[in-house]
Amino acid sequence: MQLKSTNNQAPIVGFPEALFQGLAPDGGLYVPVEEADLKQRLRSLGPADDFPAVAATVVEGLLGDTLGDPLEFARSTFPFAPELRDLGNGIYVLELWHGPSAAFKDYGAAFLAASMERLLTDRNQRAIILTATSGDTGSAVAQAFHNRENIDVVILYPEGRVSPLQEKQLTTLGGNIHALRVQGAFDDCQRMVKEAFMDRDLCAKVPLTSANSINIGRLIPQSFYYVWAHAQLKDANAGERMFVVPSGNFGNLTAGVMAWRWGLPIDAFLAATNANDVVPEYLETGIYTPRESVATYSNAMDVGRPSNFDRLMHIFGNSLESVRSMIGGEVVNDTETLALMQRYHRSKGVFLDPHTAVGVAAAERRIKDYTGGRIIVLGTAHPGKFLEVVEQATGVQPPLPDRLQSVLAKQGQSEPIAAEAAALRARLIEWFHA
Ligand SMILES: *Cc1c(COP(=O)(O)O)cnc(C)c1O
Repeated sequence: MQLKSTNNQAPIVGFPEALFQGLAPDGGLYVPVEEADLKQRLRSLGPADDFPAVAATVVEGLLGDTLGDPLEFARSTFPFAPELRDLGNGIYVLELWHGPSAAFKDYGAAFLAASMERLLTDRNQRAIILTATSGDTGSAVAQAFHNRENIDVVILYPEGRVSPLQEKQLTTLGGNIHALRVQGAFDDCQRMVKEAFMDRDLCAKVPLTSANSINIGRLIPQSFYYVWAHAQLKDANAGERMFVVPSGNFGNLTAGVMAWRWGLPIDAFLAATNANDVVPEYLETGIYTPRESVATYSNAMDVGRPSNFDRLMHIFGNSLESVRSMIGGEVVNDTETLALMQRYHRSKGVFLDPHTAVGVAAAERRIKDYTGGRIIVLGTAHPGKFLEVVEQATGVQPPLPDRLQSVLAKQGQSEPIAAEAAALRARLIEWFHA
């Protein structure tokens, strides 16, 4: 697989280079030079194929044996799997929260970590992952990289501004996972990380690399569950298939669109957002106006400048008309989100987290046009991760998954650090400069 930058000003690279660079040197996002044709491979899959088998089929088609034997690689990378839940009326939830941090980002993080470990070990090299988190992404990354060979992870988070559970998820792993609590806000954490990557002297001394959500190594694995869900429903009926994607940075949606381009027979996508609606607005008006985000109950989708927008547009040849032919938009506000969560709990005994609820609300608006078909909503997080909102909506606390419950009882460890690039620089050199 060869990759080029969406800005077209950077050299074409292979998958390993794109993986370790994250962002292309011209500031663009990596996209495949040529679209793979996986139609035959994808059509051969059915309900009997488990998630690693599906993942291996896609990996083999895209990357051959770059990561070793594809099936062996997929089985060791994904000890967890999605589940498909029938909500009735043709709406399904594709539950992506059965991984270690109980959100879909576990898939991208697991694949990125396993790929990096494999390639570093082959080359006898080392990497230091440097990342800032406002809570959620960091815990998926920390879990995925824990105990990986040749890799250390340094996570910056704003002290007192992540939830107690999130803080425990970042600070209780230990070993190669180093948590720094920054005396500042999330923006300070991001600025410090950015400055570290721009510090040439530091980068010459410490092999820094990023694990952020624009990395192609996080995007590719997010296509696997679209393929798996489609294979699961292969025998259900011949009707149309639409995927509804609760979206913020639009990584998940972009991954689904990639799977469709490779040959997965999907009829339509629906981008479901909260009040941060720049993409639905663009689909409606043709005018793209990125702006500051506003706070909502589905806070992992509070994004005003979606980082994958350029990549998504690139796939459609930057044509509004062709994006519109495949992707619709729906905006669901906080009041509607809470009402839907309450209704599903009362009538079906089903807990939904606020992000998944945005998707289900959007699906309900479209289901009338989908008689006989299937609408699959991506279930992005376990309801137990958003206890307060779920309790507010339903009056009941949802159960926390065991793996999160046990984290709460553990003692965490982190080091305080001033919100200054120089402080981070000194720390990194002390820890990692040979
Ligand atoms: C990250 C996240 C989203 C948004 O996904 P994007 O790929 O950024 O669009 C939705 N829900 C949850 C729970 C998330 O963590």
